[in-house]
Parts: sequence; structure tokens; C-alpha cells
Amino acid sequence: MKSRILLIDDDPLILKSFKLLLSHEGYEVIPTSSYEEALRAFEEKQFELILSDIRMPGKNGVETVSEIQSQLISAGKGELPIIFITGYAEYGDQLKAEFIGEVLTKPVDTEKLLTTIRDYL
Ligand SMILES: [Mg+2]
Repeated sequence: MKSRILLIDDDPLILKSFKLLLSHEGYEVIPTSSYEEALRAFEEKQFELILSDIRMPGKNGVETVSEIQSQLISAGKGELPIIFITGYAEYGDQLKAEFIGEVLTKPVDTEKLLTTIRDYL
């Protein structure tokens, strides 16, 4: 079965290009552009990994992912691996300490992204 990835980014070009790239690699990708959309997708489907932007209008990527993780914990399920994508490298170490996963910096190296995803799936 295909691993399903929840993709969160307010930039439509990122959603489009990552969906294309990852679908081509055999993943099922559900693109969402806000906290609300991501939470709705999370309620409807089961995911194996989250790939998320950090800076977004409204609730940011960290708040969105934290909400999803706390719902998983409340439901007695394990946390999902997270890969954050950010233009701001200074977030890196702090986020790595808080979440299971990685922080990649924009512009994202495609090979690095695919290798990182493969490490978790
Ligand atoms: Mg953004």
C-alpha cells in the first residue's frame, strides 16, 4: 500500500511541485494550505508522515503539527514523523528537539527531501 503524506504549505507552487514529485515516487500526497485544511484532512484520512511549511498566515506549521500530534496522543496513537520545510534555518535545532523528524531549508534539495522521507517510511 502507498504511504500517505500530509503536505501543508500556504504556497500553491510548493503544493503543486511537491505533490508532483512525491506522487511520482509512489507516495499518496494530500496537499493542504492552512491549519483548518490540514486538520480536516487529518480527520478524514490516516497518514504515515507530515511534510509541513512553518510560516503560514493564521496558525503556523508548528502549531498545526502540534495540534495533530496532541490529537494522536489523546487517541492513544503514536506520533507521526514530521519534516519541516522552512526558509528560516534558525528554527532547525529547536524543532528537531521538539518533534520526531527533520528540518529542511528552502530551497529544498529534492534528493535530500526524498532520502529523508525514505528514512521514515
Ligand atoms: Mg509559508
